[in-house]
Amino acid sequence: MIHADEARGLILQKVRPLGTEEILLSDSLGRFLFQAVTAPVSLPTFDNSAMDGFAIRSEETRSASQANPAAFKVIGTIAAGDGPGKIGPGEACRIMTGAIVPEGADAVVPFEDAVDEKERCLITEPIPEGDNIRYAGEDIRKGNAILAPGERINSRTIALLAALGLTRVSVFKRPRVRILSTGSELARTGEPLRLGQIYNSNGPALAAALKEIGIESPEITVAADTEAELKQAISRINPSDDCDALITIGAVSAGDFDLVPKVLKDLGAEIIFHKVAIKPGKPLLYATKPPLQIFGLPGNPVSALMVFDRFVRPALLKMMGAREVFRATKSALASEDLKGSSGKEDYLRGIVEYRDGHYVARSAGSQGSARLVPLAKANAVLVIPADRKSIAKGETVTFEFLSGAA
Ligand code: AMP
Ligand code: MG
Repeated sequence: MIHADEARGLILQKVRPLGTEEILLSDSLGRFLFQAVTAPVSLPTFDNSAMDGFAIRSEETRSASQANPAAFKVIGTIAAGDGPGKIGPGEACRIMTGAIVPEGADAVVPFEDAVDEKERCLITEPIPEGDNIRYAGEDIRKGNAILAPGERINSRTIALLAALGLTRVSVFKRPRVRILSTGSELARTGEPLRLGQIYNSNGPALAAALKEIGIESPEITVAADTEAELKQAISRINPSDDCDALITIGAVSAGDFDLVPKVLKDLGAEIIFHKVAIKPGKPLLYATKPPLQIFGLPGNPVSALMVFDRFVRPALLKMMGAREVFRATKSALASEDLKGSSGKEDYLRGIVEYRDGHYVARSAGSQGSARLVPLAKANAVLVIPADRKSIAKGETVTFEFLSGAA
């Protein structure tokens, strides 16, 4: 049995980013940039007003005061989208936010700070040069790097890329993933349960976990616990086929019908490791049939999701080109004793809150690997290192927030 770190290391050593593709910016949410982006133009592209107000020459307000305001003749109005204008000495222009600053002006006085007499405007204090002007290139200069390879595209980066006029971006391809749920006890969705049957909760849960990292519509198949059925389901996944990663669920531990390791071997996959010193999720298996990556997750729903989170998620993120494949690790104070196991890294479903300036962690309930209610309530995974059996109340515990946790 290998250690958690070693297992994660072996996986991340083997998986590689997939190829790249150019896609529409409108399709790029959640994807990872392949190339650094450099600004094709400066932003703003022209000097423009940051306020609705009067464009003036600042030097003409130098001795302005309430008692002795500077008076300007208002010669026109410039709206956003209008062409360039011009003012001369003693003149001002009404200007709207985003409009080109007219030649001759070097500051904008907001309407609310001026006396608007329609034909004239009065300014009652000295205005610094550049006030309320957004200068060309002050946000980004043409040719400068803005986003690095491996950065995830979100709504904020899309704002920047769209403002630069970019309509296409080069991103890493997403892995095509198949989920194979095993178990003769799995009932078909929507059908009433016969005694002894259960619904397949892992299939939908993992499909959702994949979606959380931007992998949509994995193919989900179900196979009964027979060698023939498993073989047939797995052999359909040919490396040259349309699949980069296969995630099997169940049939990977010590039961009489846990046939996944054998079937994988028979089909020519190389088992890189099987069994890791973790709880839950000890039977985790990782195999490859290059370039296909195969992750064998144990069937208990808590184990399947925890193992996905700790081992498969980072691997898929690496395949997707992510620069950062791990979640941020944080520390909390344990508000109760947290029990782990000896010799294994424990992943406890926890509830973490921010209180009085620090995080406080407690167990989300029973840590049984089939207990779905604490899993659903948890917002964090609390990690107890392999060399610790427990964390006492008041000690520090390491945790990561789970996806979707606020
Ligand atoms: P296994 O890893 O196949 O020995 O399964 C361990 C436990 O997880 C058993 O109680 C199974 O019934 C349950 N299980 C396996 N696969 C699923 C699944 N897809 N959805 C829900 N529970 C499952
Ligand atoms: Mg099973």
